Amino acid sequence: MSDGRVINFGAGPSALPASVLEEAAKGLLNFNGTGIGIAEISHRSKEFTAFLAEVESLIRSQLDVPETHGILFTQGGGSAQFSAVVLNLLARHHLLNPDLPERDLDYVITGSWSKKAAEEARRLGGGRVNVVVDARASSKDGRTFDSIPAHASYSFTSPNPALIYYCENETVDGVEFSNDASSPASFPFHLLPQNTPLLPLVGDYSSSFMSRPIPRLADHAIIYAGAQKNIGPAGLTILIVRKDCLVDVDAAAKLGAAPVPLTMAYKTLADNSSVYNTPAVLPIYISGLVLRRSAEQGGVQYYEALNKRKADKLYAAIKEGEARGVFRAKVKEGSGSLMNVVFDVVGDGAEAKFISGAEALGMKAIKGHRSVGGIRVSLYNAVTEEQTDAIVAFMKSFLAQ
Ligand code: PLP
Repeated sequence: MSDGRVINFGAGPSALPASVLEEAAKGLLNFNGTGIGIAEISHRSKEFTAFLAEVESLIRSQLDVPETHGILFTQGGGSAQFSAVVLNLLARHHLLNPDLPERDLDYVITGSWSKKAAEEARRLGGGRVNVVVDARASSKDGRTFDSIPAHASYSFTSPNPALIYYCENETVDGVEFSNDASSPASFPFHLLPQNTPLLPLVGDYSSSFMSRPIPRLADHAIIYAGAQKNIGPAGLTILIVRKDCLVDVDAAAKLGAAPVPLTMAYKTLADNSSVYNTPAVLPIYISGLVLRRSAEQGGVQYYEALNKRKADKLYAAIKEGEARGVFRAKVKEGSGSLMNVVFDVVGDGAEAKFISGAEALGMKAIKGHRSVGGIRVSLYNAVTEEQTDAIVAFMKSFLAQ
């Protein structure tokens, strides 16, 4: 059944394991022996309720999510969370500090997605948006996002922010925080305000969720991810929310906070076990099958080692091509994403030749994001080491021509 499939290096929606899709096809016809397909069954049936609980526990056990945090499922993708994190955390801030004249929303800007999230916060109002750091300031040309900034350039100056926001992996620009605390490209947890044990720290993990462990997970207020990179189809958003962020948004509105749509209020989702309204049943099902498979393989520790091996091979091939003047790395060494590897092919018409050469060999979706161009090879969990070896071999043959 998987015959005819090509290697999909797309950035999202992206490749899913063929074995999972084959199993999902059976579930589409008959979910769990019910005789009803997964896209047809009630989200309140006992079979689906049990499946949803299993998905939650697969995430909790693989990421070691403590009991201080709930796991919630919603829709609207990362983009809806750009708004939801602001609205919920402003409501929380109003309840904790009813009389403040000004509320700070602190953004770490390392790429196109965190920039977009900050723009949404500005659009919503209700707080003062501060830029803790803008990675463009330290880039080669002062305009592009090509590295994770040095720790010394962050200024977390708000004494009591309503939100501190960062994006772990910038899917468009190909930069990612390092998981190694001793790396200069790690997230500067040690610089965060020290006066509160319940930091309003928010991480967008859309394109790196389940690709490796999450550093200092317990210190986060909210971690969120759209499913459509490492986990499943688009349509499902996964949230890890610390329980003090499940606030009564209507009580906050009485104190002057902006009203929060009920479908966006984390407390509504939690109080209703993520089925306040009809959830994305099919994406949850496929994501659950992917997560079962990942648990069997060794979880995020297994994927961390695998993803590092894959990315190392690709970055080495780019370096080799750079030495020959054929490829050009777009990201400074040490800041490169394990998930989205970006580079340019130098010379007139060379990029188109590279893309068509790869396509002829069954390697698709390597064109960079339309806003930045170039090549982007996405190496999410479902991309195997053999598939990575295939593109590396093609890059080497391209160099040899
Ligand atoms: N954040 C990151 C890091 C992303 O990669 C994306 C989409 O690719 C988004 C947010 C926006 O997500 P969505 O398209 O699910 O709204």
